[in-house]
Amino acid sequence: MTQTRFTVKELPYAYDALAPQVSEETLRYHHDKHYAGYVDKLNELVVDTPWAGQPLEDIILSADGPIYNNAAQAWNHEFFFAELSPEPQREPSGALAEAIARDFGSADALRTQMNKAAVGLFGSGWVWLVADKAGKLSVVSLPNAGNPLVQGLTPLLCLDVWEHAYYIDYRNRRADAVAALWDRVDWKTVGERYDRK
Ligand code: MN
Repeated sequence: MTQTRFTVKELPYAYDALAPQVSEETLRYHHDKHYAGYVDKLNELVVDTPWAGQPLEDIILSADGPIYNNAAQAWNHEFFFAELSPEPQREPSGALAEAIARDFGSADALRTQMNKAAVGLFGSGWVWLVADKAGKLSVVSLPNAGNPLVQGLTPLLCLDVWEHAYYIDYRNRRADAVAALWDRVDWKTVGERYDRK
């Protein structure tokens, strides 16, 4: 059977480009070990299954157990790394800025809500800014390899709150890690996701 292998996507910036908020050491472990590990594991798991050769999104919507977990972790990390930038647009603009003002009051209020969700999420998981079918924005916390596509929601922005995302730089201080990450979130990318939804 012909098998299409999933590939590890290169970072769109240098490993040291997000420092000091995210160190080179953290990014090397996070991208080359953790994210790449999910991709490698997924490639092992899908051999000779109906999921071989399917897009990640389709696997996320139809699989469960280890295949879901590794597909979702691969997708989530690609989405996460793509929204960070060495030279980010620091605040939302355009239609996304209007939607944030409507649904949260302000970008600061949104960041505060996502920070609280990140600190409040027990164990490992992801905090998401999502849009529903009507375009209404909300924040959802999902444990482990959670991905909002499963609930029919459109992901716009995610915070990785697995310890591997921050423990080298921040040890147990998740709140500090998340607070610092906002300096690397590129709202231009997030706005483009909103415009495409
Ligand atoms: Mn991670």
